[in-house]
Amino acid sequence: MESKQSGNTMRTVSVISLGCPKNTVDSEKILGILGSRGYAISAIPEQSDFVIVNTCAFIKPAVKEAKQIISKLKKNKNKYGYKLIVTGCLPARDPWLIDIRDIDGITGPYNIDKLADILSGADEGKQLNANSYLKITNYCRIPRVISTFPHAYLKITEGCSNHCSYCTIPFIRGPLFSFPERDILKEAESLYDFGVKELIIVGHDITAYGQDRGKRNLCALLKKILKIGFRWVRLMYLHPAGITDELLELIEGNAQICKYLDIPLQHINPVILKKMNRPVFDYKKLIEDIRRAVPQIAIRTTFIVGFPGETDEIFEQLVDFVRIIKFDRIGAFIYYPEKDTRAFLFKNQVPFKIKKKRLFKLMNVQRMISKELAGSFVGKEIDVLVEKKKDDYLIGRTQMDAPDIDWTVRIYGKASIGDIVRVRITKSSPYCLTGSICMGN
Ligand code: SF4
Repeated sequence: MESKQSGNTMRTVSVISLGCPKNTVDSEKILGILGSRGYAISAIPEQSDFVIVNTCAFIKPAVKEAKQIISKLKKNKNKYGYKLIVTGCLPARDPWLIDIRDIDGITGPYNIDKLADILSGADEGKQLNANSYLKITNYCRIPRVISTFPHAYLKITEGCSNHCSYCTIPFIRGPLFSFPERDILKEAESLYDFGVKELIIVGHDITAYGQDRGKRNLCALLKKILKIGFRWVRLMYLHPAGITDELLELIEGNAQICKYLDIPLQHINPVILKKMNRPVFDYKKLIEDIRRAVPQIAIRTTFIVGFPGETDEIFEQLVDFVRIIKFDRIGAFIYYPEKDTRAFLFKNQVPFKIKKKRLFKLMNVQRMISKELAGSFVGKEIDVLVEKKKDDYLIGRTQMDAPDIDWTVRIYGKASIGDIVRVRITKSSPYCLTGSICMGN
């Protein structure tokens, strides 16, 4: 590889990817675009000619993190001699959030195909800005560089039309746009040919797939994806109102689909759900129905604490619900009033101190549940996908765990990255299992 250090002419680019797996796919596409235009890819920003920050901006802490990273990169620009480009959700949410001084180019998430021009402009001292909303109809056909092997994310939709009252995504990413089935399948095939073992299907709400084309048809798409032959296929970000009997039957009847569902419920109190513009129905029954239809299922959910109008009593209802249901995995977040959203103007905002206390309490309850659940695996054998090598052990995940957000397994024994091995669990802690590879693997 030729780099600025070697004095050769090939220009090097490095992408810092912030935020969720959907942004990870965008970052991989950015590298794919620039790689196909002759740029060499580097994992080390300080050694690159261009550093691109692919930002997240859906809540205040994400905006703060993006701004901090940009500001640090600005400070080091002269020392390392790179050009700095900002892309992703931050410019799309509000260009005024960015202090454009010392930035060499800007794009929104829908203009990543303009990045090569922006980099050339930066080389000539021009600060180009391409930040307008448009549907990227060829998204799945954009080349990409896989950064997460042995798993890879497959984005099947962009944007969201659900308009939950607290959420900035519909403003940042636009309305739901389902990518064409043929393109999705082609991209999935190329990921399979690359050797990907676990395909993770993502979108802001994957149950809505096809709605903008007249009919929701996630199951039909899934059946075609399954034919490609991935060892594991995982479904993430499913809106509770979009869980159908057909989907549950498909999950139960197919060994390739991970027995895992990520269903963000956000809350369970009807008054809060209504104010959130979320579906109001019996979530306890939903979980029971799912567990009856797919007995091995691990259910992950997310909750927002401190939404406007959440009294102590309502919060305790949520805690009781978590105690009773015993979710396999939970993520919880503090509610942040975000400008441009309806909830920003709601009365009865909850003081930040109380929100923090509630978050701590909820996660403590879940920690005890996780500890008990993890303990129940000791002595059992489970399949684990090997993802990393450490000094004298390996790190992997089960079908019950999505990357980065769920539990991991520390594995002793010999295996390669991408192997799925049978592991006997010998030890547990709340978010981690330990075990050895079974003989005969
Ligand atoms: S479904 Fe998710 S992405 Fe869509 S508006 Fe609601 S919270 Fe936002």
